[in-house]
Amino acid sequence: MGLGAFGGGEGVVRFLSQRGARITITDLRSETDLADTLARLDDCRIESLQLGAHHEPAFREADLIVVNPAVPRGSPWLDIARAAGVPLTSEMNLFAQHHRGRVVAVTGSIGKSTTTALLHAMLAASGRRAWLGGNIGVSLLPVVDDIEPGDWVVLELSSFQLTDLDRLRFRPDVAVVTNLRPNHLDWHASLDEYRQAKQTILRWQQPTDVAVLNADDADVASWPAIGRKAWFGREGATVAGASTARDDSARVRGSRLVGRVAGQDVDLDLQDGFRLPGEHHAINAAAATAAALTIGADTAALRSALRAFEGLPHRLQRIDEQRGRAFFDDSKATTPDAAIAALRAFEAPVILLAGGYDKHVDLSDLADAIAERAAATALMGQTAEALDALLAERRTARGEPPKRRVCATFEEAFSWGVDQSSPGDVVLLSPGCASFGWFQNYVERGREFARLAREWGEGLGAS
Ligand code: ADP
Repeated sequence: MGLGAFGGGEGVVRFLSQRGARITITDLRSETDLADTLARLDDCRIESLQLGAHHEPAFREADLIVVNPAVPRGSPWLDIARAAGVPLTSEMNLFAQHHRGRVVAVTGSIGKSTTTALLHAMLAASGRRAWLGGNIGVSLLPVVDDIEPGDWVVLELSSFQLTDLDRLRFRPDVAVVTNLRPNHLDWHASLDEYRQAKQTILRWQQPTDVAVLNADDADVASWPAIGRKAWFGREGATVAGASTARDDSARVRGSRLVGRVAGQDVDLDLQDGFRLPGEHHAINAAAATAAALTIGADTAALRSALRAFEGLPHRLQRIDEQRGRAFFDDSKATTPDAAIAALRAFEAPVILLAGGYDKHVDLSDLADAIAERAAATALMGQTAEALDALLAERRTARGEPPKRRVCATFEEAFSWGVDQSSPGDVVLLSPGCASFGWFQNYVERGREFARLAREWGEGLGAS
């Protein structure tokens, strides 16, 4: 149920097909929307495709339903399955039940993918057999039998996935929590419920397991953890209410990461070849480094992985320099916090493209950051008017209302934005909101930005 476009459903179909299952795929999206995914599944035996709508018999008559993590638990279709006694599972639960490796799992509200990918690169650089999967968009289910007992599986886990994993008493050898912010409250009933979902990552750990936690985040720092602890964060962060005497810790001091983890001294210069801008990415690097050290990676490997890491697409990714302007695609910044972090990452004047789908989160901190940091802001999507109103109440350092414009299309936002820019400026897509409404997803939005930037550089688009 829910094939999706991010690889999870695809992995499930491949895995089940390898095992001889008779498969029905049902998804509310149309065959055209799912064409790419379906084309890649051409070699799998699919018994029935029910696209564009769900149909009741499939939910009553199946032996097992594999539910996409984005499907709301209260979906009436799932009630039909439950009433008929049909067991429900998920891609990640199937993986957790079938793999034989050791697990380092990463969760948090922001920075999961970046931390997970960097950690995976660090383990690979230190000569481990390491696999990358989970919410990051790669399903490891089709290769589950290739994962050997000594291998490390590096998993990014969303709160949705963790909610399901609780039933299995999922127990990662190493658990990393980047932070907790009030995200996804459209899906979770409350902040409490969201926190409890995230805490699943620590809930079933044993004393020999490790919890790698953010010392700057008072919420996360107070979570019950039975395993050994390793802290990361800015220097000076204190861990309220916990004795850190026997804990490991790696903190960012200026451009260096300094500390001691698992008996190894750490002193790494994060600016030495690390290409991701912003303090937030330095903190993500600290999280990955602390986790890699608990697993026994050596500092030389960490240094080379930090230098080689290019970041992930659409996460404050430098895509191009065109006519003297640096273009950064931060389309994955779908929350105000991520856009604020991006605005803080640059010294140069920033021309910002912000706004999008309205998830009813408070945008006032984002408006403050825009007033403080952005030279001009093109406002997009459903939240454009709200941001415009918030900005009207604010003043820049020069005492003026922030320069901005409500734009009717993405092209207009782009061309107005570049019109405001001068050589040496940064043109930044960091919407702080989800992409629905104007785009299928953040990937499409980021690609469109890159395309417009290239066209503009070649003198084809707006001047
Ligand atoms: P996630 O997988 O949790 O969504 P990503 O690594 O994909 O996190 O990053 C998503 C967005 O948040 C990007 O725009 C990125 O630049 C920004 N970001 C990453 N880490 C942090 C952080 N620690 N604090 C604030 N923003 C962050």
